[in-house]
Amino acid sequence: MKKVLVANRGEIAIRIFRALSELDISTVGVYAQEDAGAVHRFKADEAYLVGEGKKPIDAYLDIEGLIKIAKDSGAEAIHPGYGFLSENIEFARRCQEEGIIFIGPKLEHLDIFGDKIKAKKAAVSAGIQAIPGTDGPVSSVEEVLEFGSQYGYPIIIKAALGGGGRGMRVAHSASEASEGFNRARSEALSSFGSDEIYVEKYIGNPKHIEVQILGDLHGNIVHLYERDCSVQRRHQKVVEVAPCINMSDDLRHKICDAALQLMNHVGYVNAGTVEFLVEGNDFYFIEVNPRVQVEHTITELITGIDIVQAQIQIAQGLDLHTDIHIPAQENIPLIGAAIQCRITTEDPLNNFFPDTGKINTYRSPGGFGIRLDAGNGFQGTVVTPFFDSLLVKACVHSLSFQQATKKMDRALTEFRIRGVKTNIPFLRNVIQHPVFISGDAKTTFIDSTPELFE
Ligand code: ADP
Repeated sequence: MKKVLVANRGEIAIRIFRALSELDISTVGVYAQEDAGAVHRFKADEAYLVGEGKKPIDAYLDIEGLIKIAKDSGAEAIHPGYGFLSENIEFARRCQEEGIIFIGPKLEHLDIFGDKIKAKKAAVSAGIQAIPGTDGPVSSVEEVLEFGSQYGYPIIIKAALGGGGRGMRVAHSASEASEGFNRARSEALSSFGSDEIYVEKYIGNPKHIEVQILGDLHGNIVHLYERDCSVQRRHQKVVEVAPCINMSDDLRHKICDAALQLMNHVGYVNAGTVEFLVEGNDFYFIEVNPRVQVEHTITELITGIDIVQAQIQIAQGLDLHTDIHIPAQENIPLIGAAIQCRITTEDPLNNFFPDTGKINTYRSPGGFGIRLDAGNGFQGTVVTPFFDSLLVKACVHSLSFQQATKKMDRALTEFRIRGVKTNIPFLRNVIQHPVFISGDAKTTFIDSTPELFE
């Protein structure tokens, strides 16, 4: 490959440009009108306006516009990043039809894992335990109530095509379930274009543990250990840790092996993540993200493996071991502990309302063990209301988790960001909290800890 188009914006577009440049591949960026001044535009070797006349987010979803830019600029491949078109089977198919390499899994994997019901079926047929739930979509409130009376409350109603922590509704009683059913369906339809919903037992206080996978086109598949993404607000990840603290090696091996088993079962190719909820020594499959994830960075820190470069090289047909130099599974390094904080332009004192405006001061931390992946995190840039509010991902790496929490606190303290509000004070409260430091935070930690919001 000589040239690759990155169909994304912000920090992940820049992250991918960097990987490409280090592989001597030139970069093509795209930007929506509203992003004409965005930093990622200027970090690409060449950049083009996409989706002219469309709404801001729709511009990055302009499949034909992106294909045309790829062809006109001579890009041989497209990296979709995360979000936007990264899991869109139609986009991957159009790339294939036009002879453009889609840097991601095969169409069949997008098909299975784009739909959480199909994904659960695949996991079960691979011999992995999924959360007890309806076998398929539910189409009547009676089916929901029947599930509730059979398994007991609480239950969770989920959109089959949901993502990003949206499209989920917890019901603690039959009346909440019947009320939630119609809302869940109409929300699913308006947000994800399909009103297909299913029901699961709601696990009260689990950890969210996910396993990073890389597979090549020659049948080699490895895992790069797990991440603990339990620190969530409204089912969305806020702080991530790798590896999971306080988990026995026995359980770690079982979870990582289960993830490999599933991905081997479907012959998975490229980067993907298998997600589980863990309660005590039991773990349940929830879904697969068939793409690079926001938090891939912390796995890179503990293993030394560049996941985005690996994605590109896998798409070039290279061998995971002989060409990309990833060691055999048992020799993949796991050094120390890494933490990521998602710094957003949201005001923690105003219910995390997104703030906008010009950044007049921007000073970032540095020093040993700190990694920053920023989108518009630069002095003079303007944060607009049109896109998600992620400003910079701050990651730290130390030999122990305790040291990493100290380093993260130091890193957060060193930031000086003026002109827009950020969630840094909230993140510091999380990092300093004894429950977080003990490694025991579960998915309900933030919502059940009011002092974090002070
Ligand atoms: P998304 O695709 O939107 O990220 P996931 O299925 O990965 O949705 O779930 C996101 C989070 O929602 C999980 O990490 C967990 O905190 C919560 N969650 C999802 N399913 C359940 C469940 N059955 N019981 C308890 N919590 C759940």
